[in-house]
Amino acid sequence: MADVENVIIIGSGPAGYTAALYTSRANLKPFVIEGFMWGGLLQQTTEVENYPGFPGGGIAGPELMQKLRDQAEDFGTRFLTDQATSVELATEPGGIHKVHVGSDVYLARSVILSMGAEHKKLGVPGEQELAGAGISYCATCDAAFFKDQVIMVVGGGDSAFEEAMFLAKFGRKVLLVHRRDEFRASKIMVERARAFDNIEFKTPYAPVEFHEGDGPFKRVARLKHSDTGEIEEVEIGGAFIAIGHEPQSEIVEGVIDVDDDGYVKVDGRSTRTNVPGVFAAGDLVDHTYRQAVTAAGSGCQAALDAEWYLRDTPEVPTPEGLPVGDLAEAQWAAPQTAS
Ligand code: NAP
Repeated sequence: MADVENVIIIGSGPAGYTAALYTSRANLKPFVIEGFMWGGLLQQTTEVENYPGFPGGGIAGPELMQKLRDQAEDFGTRFLTDQATSVELATEPGGIHKVHVGSDVYLARSVILSMGAEHKKLGVPGEQELAGAGISYCATCDAAFFKDQVIMVVGGGDSAFEEAMFLAKFGRKVLLVHRRDEFRASKIMVERARAFDNIEFKTPYAPVEFHEGDGPFKRVARLKHSDTGEIEEVEIGGAFIAIGHEPQSEIVEGVIDVDDDGYVKVDGRSTRTNVPGVFAAGDLVDHTYRQAVTAAGSGCQAALDAEWYLRDTPEVPTPEGLPVGDLAEAQWAAPQTAS
């Protein structure tokens, strides 16, 4: 029979690795299903200057993630560099949860969800085709490719303004395209951006298509006026899409309570989800702060919540001698309480 883990952590950004660090130091021997692209969105950033503890210019995102991973490994965390594909969760306290990775099944008494968030896509023609070849979701990763060119930024929130101001140091001109005349971004960000000579605002427009243009590094964005529907074509070097993030909650949707935007709901200030023994942390839960350090903090909370749950919840005896594939579904759906 497959071993039943104390805790399986799904996802590997700052939240997942911090949860791994804490649960491994608590001797729970966590098992992290970290995904193929382990390390989360920070793997796509260059310098991280606002993670405490790294004076003198900060630390590169990938280096920070490697350090978090190594530190968790030092205390006995085990990793699987693969993608969790679905979950089957026991509904009663003490029940055993199943995490599927393709055709393999892993069992655990508790699960910490930390799958993070991904950049939201516009979903217009050409976006996918030009992704990584003129269209990007990460200015810090790709700005240098667009030196002295006309760069489009799409979005009206703080992220779009942050990206625009960062890109203004590289591009000849930054065209900030937003679908409304009002910006969701904070006033101070808007004022700062207005002070840049080479940031131009184009509102209320939204891209409806991207395609290759003439010459090297040239793309064309077709923009639609939000009120009149008038179409305009703009030649650009590239475009950065900064229209928010989407939580990566697909594998638990329908099983765990999520809000209208797909963020996993937790109980008050805890990391407890609606399913006993299942906890959630990081960007999967948080649409407000979304910082590496807040994600790490909530990973710590999830680890402590899991530790206390395991301490306080009687174990449901697992049927012995049965390979996982042969277990009757009912045994997992309605686990017995230990006597
Ligand atoms: P956001 O605040 O949700 O803004 C997303 C923007 O994209 C909105 O302006 C939205 O337009 C637009 N948008 C969404 N879907 C679109 C679509 N399909 N087509 C065209 N436009 C679309 O997201 P965010 O900017 O990533 O910020 C998220 C959170 O992080 C916020 O709380 C923000 O304050 C915070 N943050 C803070 C900083 C900072 O302070 N330094 C930096 C970055 C982020 P509408 O306005 O019309 O809905």
